[in-house]
Amino acid sequence: MQEEELKKYQNKLTELKKKLEKEIKETPDIIDYGTEAGEDEEVDEAISADVQASLKKNFKRRLEDVKSALIKIKEKTYGLCEKCKGEIEKEILKIDPESRHCKKEKTYGLCEKCKGEIEKEILKIDPESRHCKKHKSI
Ligand SMILES: [Zn+2]
Ligand SMILES: [Zn+2]
Repeated sequence: MQEEELKKYQNKLTELKKKLEKEIKETPDIIDYGTEAGEDEEVDEAISADVQASLKKNFKRRLEDVKSALIKIKEKTYGLCEKCKGEIEKEILKIDPESRHCKKEKTYGLCEKCKGEIEKEILKIDPESRHCKKHKSI
């Protein structure tokens, strides 16, 4: 990859890193409301805490990818797939600059319908599966 192009991705990733760190800071950790909270209230809070926890988990995972991509820029291995060591397609890097994998590996294990992860139990019996459990019958 050209020096100039790398610089561009580096800037993009640095911005993304800042944004993610901010999001993580602003997303509160799950609070244990204990057993004294009112029953109705407790249910509502449990749901939003759940959503927040998974959001935060996603932000953290993405931040790890961004950090690793920044290291790769320094090590001059940026843009290479961690799995097949081939070049990651530009169209992927454009929308997902911290991507660790090329198109081929990226879509493996993802449902073509909902883009969600295909359950391990499905991949075990049908590694070629294009759909998750929910969409398999369609
Ligand atoms: Zn690959
Ligand atoms: Zn699906």
